Amino acid sequence: MTMNRERSEQHYNEALEHIVGGVNSPSRSFKAVGGGAPVFMEKAEGAYFWDVDGNKYIDYLAAYGPIILGHAHPHVTKAITKAAQNGTLYGTPTELENQFAKKLKQAIPSMDKVRFVNSGTEAVMTTIRVARAFTGRRKIIKFAGCYHGHSDLVLVAAGSGPSTLGIPDSAGITTNIASEVITVPFNDIDALKQALDHWGDDVAAVMIEPIVGNFGMVTPEVGFLEKLCLYTRQAGALVIYDEVISAFRFHYGAAQNYKLFPDHKAIEPDLTALGKIIGGGLPIGAYGGKKEVMDQVAPLGPAYQAGTMAGNPASISAGIACLEVLEEPGTYQHLFDMADTLTEGIKEAAEHNNIALTVNQIGGAFSTHFCNHEIKNYEDAQNTDSELFSQFFKLMLNEGINLAPSKYEAWFLTTAHQLKDIQETIHAVRDTFSKMKR
Ligand code: PMP
Repeated sequence: MTMNRERSEQHYNEALEHIVGGVNSPSRSFKAVGGGAPVFMEKAEGAYFWDVDGNKYIDYLAAYGPIILGHAHPHVTKAITKAAQNGTLYGTPTELENQFAKKLKQAIPSMDKVRFVNSGTEAVMTTIRVARAFTGRRKIIKFAGCYHGHSDLVLVAAGSGPSTLGIPDSAGITTNIASEVITVPFNDIDALKQALDHWGDDVAAVMIEPIVGNFGMVTPEVGFLEKLCLYTRQAGALVIYDEVISAFRFHYGAAQNYKLFPDHKAIEPDLTALGKIIGGGLPIGAYGGKKEVMDQVAPLGPAYQAGTMAGNPASISAGIACLEVLEEPGTYQHLFDMADTLTEGIKEAAEHNNIALTVNQIGGAFSTHFCNHEIKNYEDAQNTDSELFSQFFKLMLNEGINLAPSKYEAWFLTTAHQLKDIQETIHAVRDTFSKMKR
């Protein structure tokens, strides 16, 4: 049976007249899954969504990551309400910012100092500026398929070889800017070494998601980050970790402090960009790093960065409240347990229906790829069946399961998901797989 989503369609048609593309972020459109009206949600609570037509969904999008406690978590809602009652924006410093900065530094010790901004994009963009100010160099090296927000420098695609400069990934980005970016394949230490050998004197920073969340969930191979840090520093460049997705996702701390990497000191970055979870569902970003590097930032140093909304009491209060819940014992274990049960169920259902599926799970997050090869880099993730994914996505939506409309995005568990939700989801997956046309 197909769900009735008449009102969503009406709202979408209206949106198309007033909002470019009908959406305020392209990832919300259904373009990548063959088109159609995206679902207009009306209410969210815990693990659930209700759309404008009254349909209920179990949500695994978690707003692309931030909603790790589920929707409208009472502790976060209370903190936001209190902040709103005390005035939402001051334009002056507040003590809350100190509290939150201290909390983040305790969890991520590579950051001696932090600065709050409003989005992951801003955080990443600024780390690049700071790295350039510190090193006096121009170029950055990034990894194919890692998404770092929509600022000019990081929207540059791979060139045709490891030592080739990038080409713009978006109209409006000049070839001059693209010539400052080098893209190499993830998990390919030789390609990085070659790029550093070739461009090293001019490289300000190497930027990476230490655990990838943007072409599925992908971990670096053993020793990759250690070598990345070593070679980058030998070249006189800085290491920047984009932990906008990965921080507080797998444990109480960033990926750089996670148990996957026992030698934390050897993989410590100079700068870290944060966002998503640390805002508890309100807009936020932050960046931080070694004191001597961060001291480049105005008003102390010559690298300028500012923000009217930065450090606003509502976002900071929501962030503190979210971290307070995440800190409680057992929180991450619950996410892991739910994800384990769900991925087991999905794998069994795929096997039963003879569907080639690779599942990459890291703690409470995982990705599903329609293929029978491993996913170690962006190319692996591209070489998967987009058509099957589109069918899967749309059939699952009809079963009341809300996923991201892109084969590259992860499923995120929240503390609100309970075993009955997982069982219901496995049931939906079984039904969906049996209906898929190959
Ligand atoms: N970095 C990473 C790793 C991300 O996943 C994202 C967003 N998906 C960003 C940066 C950009 O964050 P924002 O959308 O808050 O600007």
